[in-house]
Amino acid sequence: PNAPNTVLEVKNLHKHFGGVKAVNGIDFVVKEGDVAVLIGPNGSGKTTAINLLSGIYTPTDGEIVFAGGNIAGLKPSDITKKGIARTFQNIRLFPELTVLENVMIGSHTKGSVGIIGTLVGRRKGLMEDRTAANKALEALRFVGIERHQEQAKNLPYGQQRLVEIARALVSEPKLLLLDEPAAGMNAEETVKLVKLIKKLNQMGLTILLIEHDMSLVAEVATRAYVMDFGRKISEGDIQKVLNDPIVIQAYLGE
Ligand code: ADP
Repeated sequence: PNAPNTVLEVKNLHKHFGGVKAVNGIDFVVKEGDVAVLIGPNGSGKTTAINLLSGIYTPTDGEIVFAGGNIAGLKPSDITKKGIARTFQNIRLFPELTVLENVMIGSHTKGSVGIIGTLVGRRKGLMEDRTAANKALEALRFVGIERHQEQAKNLPYGQQRLVEIARALVSEPKLLLLDEPAAGMNAEETVKLVKLIKKLNQMGLTILLIEHDMSLVAEVATRAYVMDFGRKISEGDIQKVLNDPIVIQAYLGE
């Protein structure tokens, strides 16, 4: 078989906050079909890296090559349009809106309707909006959420995370970024999350995730990168990196 295509290539990426080199010259690739993981001790620069990839921060230096071009410094909405969707470590749902409405918001990121348009559109019953609703329902079915008309705030925490994943899926991403998806989940919810990540990946979705739960990481990762002090200190097969003395040392110093 042919070698898988490169979906994302990060080259010499930097993000400095004054004197703090949160990301200090990292390189990595994500190939089609990967569940790539970015791990490392607290403060090693993982969150900053994912915020650079999704356009929340502009890099100090370096390139982020995706979909045929350098996307470094583009706005988050333009990056979503190019095919990168993400979830957040701290859930960002609209608590008062229904689950369905929250997911429908994700499907309009490709067009110019925006969040307000989604809400107004729902009331006007636009055709385009029915399509969005169908897509949202499909995504919710896929992640296993049934209470579509419930206000988002009434769902258990673990299910709110799945709603966020559904919202990311309706933008039909080529690359899904998951920022600590298991944070705050109980053991049962984490098992379901692992199954979902595997199912999404089997369907062909390429995923990059940051995660603290090493048992989850070990179960899903096809490729691992380890950061410490803004730099990449190890990479490769997950079992290999977890046994790398440099990585063990970095976590001991945490
Ligand atoms: P991780 O996600 O691996 O825990 P972060 O990317 O959050 O690491 O942080 C990396 C380093 O950058 C830390 O030293 C952190 O204090 C610093 N940092 C992160 N964001 C900012 C910011 N907005 N301003 C200043 N320093 C920051």
